Amino acid sequence: MQNSALNIIIPENFCYTCLPNCAVCCKNWSIDIDEETYKNLSKVEWEKISEKFVGRKKFIEENNRKYFELIDDKCIFLDDDKYCLIHKKLGFDAKTSTCKIYPFKFIKTADGIIVRLSFVCPSIIKNTGIPLEEQIAEIEKIASLKPEQMRRINETVAVNEDFKISWPDYKKLENFILDLLKTGNNYESSLKSAAKFLRIVLEGLKKKEEISGILEKIDKKNLFVRMDTSGEKKENDDTFTKKQRLYYALFVGYEFVGRAKGSVFKKYSNLVKLILKKGTLELNGKKFDVSRVDQTYFNIENKENMKLVKKYIEHLIFTKWHLLPTDFSTPNLVSGYSLILVIYAIVKWFSKAFAVLRGTSVVELCDVENAVSIVDLNYAGHITKETLFLNSPVFSKICNLLISQNNFEEIII
Ligand code: SF4
Ligand code: SF4
Repeated sequence: MQNSALNIIIPENFCYTCLPNCAVCCKNWSIDIDEETYKNLSKVEWEKISEKFVGRKKFIEENNRKYFELIDDKCIFLDDDKYCLIHKKLGFDAKTSTCKIYPFKFIKTADGIIVRLSFVCPSIIKNTGIPLEEQIAEIEKIASLKPEQMRRINETVAVNEDFKISWPDYKKLENFILDLLKTGNNYESSLKSAAKFLRIVLEGLKKKEEISGILEKIDKKNLFVRMDTSGEKKENDDTFTKKQRLYYALFVGYEFVGRAKGSVFKKYSNLVKLILKKGTLELNGKKFDVSRVDQTYFNIENKENMKLVKKYIEHLIFTKWHLLPTDFSTPNLVSGYSLILVIYAIVKWFSKAFAVLRGTSVVELCDVENAVSIVDLNYAGHITKETLFLNSPVFSKICNLLISQNNFEEIII
């Protein structure tokens, strides 16, 4: 839906109202502070406001950026009643832009400013509160807080490293993919069909065909990949070598590690273990064997569970997450879509892992909610690589090459 002075594009079927006693967004990640807010907050004698500040650092600095100090992974300004002390004592305007804007993110595109939502927020996950369409004026105010921080998507989109297309042509491809994902009874088959579709598009571009011409020739029925009716794909290891899995685990796993103080390597190693299907996983402070995750059942025919998974994947595509530039990688449609497939696979793995944590072998909606939240927080939400050991365009090229391989979706899903 598009209807505002700023040309804000609101995704359909979303509700949001901040929940009391929640504060999920005030923990488990490094909250950055803009320079002006930092100066203002530094002048306040916080020790006189609360004893918790006595003898404690309130802010930390890393790579020339300021963050709130975390205590037990919670922002130091989070009060015991789960309300923000800055908000309580100084008002909403005194907060840093990250906190004012959450759970929204704004992506500038040729069509307008797309509103992306954080799936870490329980109100977004459970779709509770006021429909976003009724909050356009408020969302527009939030969007105009820091327009310079808004991320942008180029109007010319790279399909892969060799071909670039115009925005209207890109939109045709995106609509085709979103349409494919709504078609068919088996979601994994639809996800793979879209990967196959992109390869057909590339073949057409190599022959110098126009996008509309390529689309006209495509028969959707032929795109669908046959699946086992149980929805659970048979063991991949017969088809893909251990070496192949290792490359994917190391490189694709790395691509997905965002920044979060102190836990980067844990996140990376968890992902590598899940792709390799080996080792001991640590989640919410508990350790368990990855083989238990593999033996857990994720029924892709469960409508309730899949509704959330589909909504999340569709939202990533609609908000062009796959085209967002990161500090070290150059996005293109083919590699970006492959990363969407990885997101799907990780949501599935983590859903199973949460079922294991509950002591059951069947995934339920609460496991999917936890999984979507953890994946959005740790793997999709923060895509800066500045704290990691590798930060080179060469690495990005290897990663793009691996995820653009013909059999990528078979390995990862
Ligand atoms: S996570 Fe969402 S519901 Fe919870 S406090 Fe933050 S904005 Fe509110
Ligand atoms: S400053 Fe306030 S709103 Fe922001 S993370 Fe800390 S407690 Fe939460």
